[in-house]
This record gives sequence, structure tokens and C-alpha cells, in this order.
Amino acid sequence: MAGEPQADCLFCKIVAGEVPATVVRESETTLAFRDINPQAPTHVLVIPKAHYPDAASLAAAAPQLAADVLREAGEVAVQEKITAEEDVPSKGYRIVFNTGAGAGQTVWHAHAHVLGGRGFNWPPG
Ligand code: C5P
Repeated sequence: MAGEPQADCLFCKIVAGEVPATVVRESETTLAFRDINPQAPTHVLVIPKAHYPDAASLAAAAPQLAADVLREAGEVAVQEKITAEEDVPSKGYRIVFNTGAGAGQTVWHAHAHVLGGRGFNWPPG
């Protein structure tokens, strides 16, 4: 059922404490932890504790929970000091939801990547 923990899901296991993770923030509905293979000086994943396979299905089934993930992603950026600042125009960060294998999704539990601490190119690779 939508939202229920999945026995074979890595991120459900992190939520359950069965797989270790370096947690940086937690709310009633979300968990934020450092990516095990960081692609930037700050690389944090924000996930809903409930299981949805990707961002679109999360937003469709549980829009408030999707908003919780986005709010927490912003809070991670503040906590990690990677937000844009008027006097430091080079700062800023990315929130990325890879959706589908072709876009690079490898874990089928919705997650926002929060990336910062370096410059980024556009378009992304
Ligand atoms: O967008 P994608 O599905 O590829 O993102 C999954 C992310 O989960 C990867 O960046 C990977 O490094 C991360 N990961 C992790 N801890 C694990 C397994 C994967 O942080 N134990």
C-alpha cells in the first residue's frame, strides 16, 4: 500500500534504523542524511519516512509530505550554510529529484538531493 514500509527498500531500512546513516536533520515525517557517495562538499538526501517510489508519486499521493521534504531541504541548506547570500553571489545550492533510471534514479524511495559548496554547470550532465 502507498506509504507503507517496503521490506526490500534501503531507505525504509535507514528510517527503521536497520541500516546506518549520518543523520543531519529529522522531523516527524522526514529524515535527512549525508549521501554515502557525495558529489559536492555538501550532499544530503532528504526523504519522507513513508515509502513512495519517486517524487511525482509522493506529490500525487501525499502533497503535504512532499512539501515537508522541500521545506526540510531548505532547512538543510541553511544548516549547511550553502544558501545564496547577497554579498557572496557564487553561493547557492541545488535540490534534485532524479526520477526514472534514465535520469539517474537508483533508489526507488523518493529523495531530494541537496547539493552545495561548489559551483554547478547548466545544463546538468
Ligand atoms: O538519485 P539516486 O536514486 O541515484 O540517488 C540515490 C543516492 O543514494 C545516491 O546518491 C547514493 O550515493 C545514495 N546512497 C546512500 N546510502 C546508501 C546507498 C545509496 O546515500 N546506503
